[in-house]
Amino acid sequence: MPIYEYKCNNCNHCFETLVLGSDKPVCPSCKSPDLSRLISKCGFVTRSTGSSDDSSVSVSSSSACSGCTATNCSSCTSG
Ligand SMILES: [Zn+2]
Repeated sequence: MPIYEYKCNNCNHCFETLVLGSDKPVCPSCKSPDLSRLISKCGFVTRSTGSSDDSSVSVSSSSACSGCTATNCSSCTSG
């Protein structure tokens, strides 16, 4: 089923909704159509458009490799 997760750009409310065809979802909280589709859970950080600050990507250093569960391994390269 085409269920997508969205984050409202107006009130930052996260929700998932069923999108059929050309239906335009709106925020169930503030009814704003200004939404960002999320790829994963609501914790996913999307690039905010029109941010005043320089868009420096802050990556929290995760101790785990992306390819495996080991905290340190030579076969996995981070970034
Ligand atoms: Zn909203």
